[in-house]
Amino acid sequence: MRDFTQELLELIRLTSTDLPNQVEERLKTALASEELGSAAHAALETILKNVTMTRKNSTPICQDTGTPIFFVSAPTSIDKDELTVQIRGAIELATQKSYLRPNAVHSITGKNSGNNLGDAYFPTIHFQPSANDELSVDLILKGGGCENVGAQYSLPNDELKAGRDLEGVRRAALDAVYRAQGEGCAPGFLGIAIGGDRGTGYAASKEVLMRDPDDHNRDAELDQLENRITTEANELGIGPMGFGGKATVLGTKIISSYRLPASFFVTISYMCWAFRHHKMIVKGEAIDYE
Ligand code: SF4
Repeated sequence: MRDFTQELLELIRLTSTDLPNQVEERLKTALASEELGSAAHAALETILKNVTMTRKNSTPICQDTGTPIFFVSAPTSIDKDELTVQIRGAIELATQKSYLRPNAVHSITGKNSGNNLGDAYFPTIHFQPSANDELSVDLILKGGGCENVGAQYSLPNDELKAGRDLEGVRRAALDAVYRAQGEGCAPGFLGIAIGGDRGTGYAASKEVLMRDPDDHNRDAELDQLENRITTEANELGIGPMGFGGKATVLGTKIISSYRLPASFFVTISYMCWAFRHHKMIVKGEAIDYE
C-alpha cells in the first residue's frame, strides 16, 4: 500500500493552523452583529486577527490543539492496520514540528506520552467502507474546553419538561448551551445526535459536525429545528467567550439514528470557535485537501 504519512502530516498541519473559510466567514458575520466597543466585539476581533496570523505563519490556531479525531472512508484496497500506523506516524511527526501540542496524558498517572500517541483510542480513528474507490480522511481537532461541556440527555427529562419528541430535543440542546455558558469558548457549533446508544450517540454527534456548515439537513423537520436551535441559543445572550452578546452558536447540525424502544438519548457535542476541520481525498494518484 502507498505510504500517505507525509500527506497525512499536511492534513494535520492544515487543520491545526488554517481555520476553514466558512467558519471564518461566520465569525466575521458574528463580529458585525456585536456592538462596537463591547467585550464581545473585542473578543471576536482578536479571534479573527489570530485566525489570519496562524494561517500566514503556519502556527496552531489555539494552544490546545485538541484530540485528533479521524473519520476514514476507505475502499477495500486500503489496509486499515497499515493506514492506522501511517496516521499515528503523521501525528508523531506533527507533534515534533509543533503543529500539535503534546496532549496525550495517561489517565491515572497524568504522565504525558510526549508524542500525542496513547492507546488505541488516542488519536481516535473511525473507519467506514467507501462507496467508491476514493479514500477520504476527515480530521477534527476537538478542544478539551468544548469537549468538557458536551452533554447527553436521556429523555423524558422532567426537570426540562422534555419528552421523547423534537420539542424535547430542542429543550435538551438549549439546556446544554445554557449550562456551557462561560466555558467551551463560544461562539461555537452544535452537533446533535438523536437516538443510538450512549456510545454511538457521542460518535454521531461529532461526525455530524463534518457536514458543510452551509448545507441543509435533508430532513425538512430537522432542518427547521437546526435553524431554530441556533436562533434561540443566540437569544440567550451568552455571547463570545461568555462576555454577553448576540453570537453564541454559529450553526447546528442534527442527525437522527434508530434506538431501542426503551431509550431516547439526545447527545450534544459542542465545538468551540476554533472549529478545526479539513479533509484529504485520494482519487487514484491525485490528492486534494478541502
Ligand atoms: S475550547 Fe477551543 S478555543 Fe477554547 S481553549 Fe479549547 S481548543 Fe481553544
